[in-house]
Amino acid sequence: MQKMPRRDTNPEVQLRRALHQRGLRFRIHGTELPGRPDIVFPRARIAVFVDGCFWHYCPDHGTLPKNNRDWWAAKLEANVVRDRAKDDALRAPGWLPVHVWEHDEPSDAADTLRSIWEERRNRIR
Ligand SMILES: [Zn+2]
Repeated sequence: MQKMPRRDTNPEVQLRRALHQRGLRFRIHGTELPGRPDIVFPRARIAVFVDGCFWHYCPDHGTLPKNNRDWWAAKLEANVVRDRAKDDALRAPGWLPVHVWEHDEPSDAADTLRSIWEERRNRIR
């Protein structure tokens, strides 16, 4: 039987923990927003996506499976196009989409998000 992935190694969980450590409060799974962002800062209007390197075709780790290569290329390309469309749909009503790669160091990503949050918190009232 295949072992279940360890929950605490999940990049999204690690990022949430790093954000909590920095005193940030947020909601998870913004199901009412385009693209269902993983982490949402409602007042600052920041929508965070933790993108998997394979499914979102990371420039560093994105790979194409050897079987059905053309099919995968079309599918992953469509994912990238859809990501951009969701970002546009978020920007229109004033949200800021932020994408974090699953390969990003959670503490670095959390530092970046805190800076963005501090800036937007003061701008949007
Ligand atoms: Zn990557």
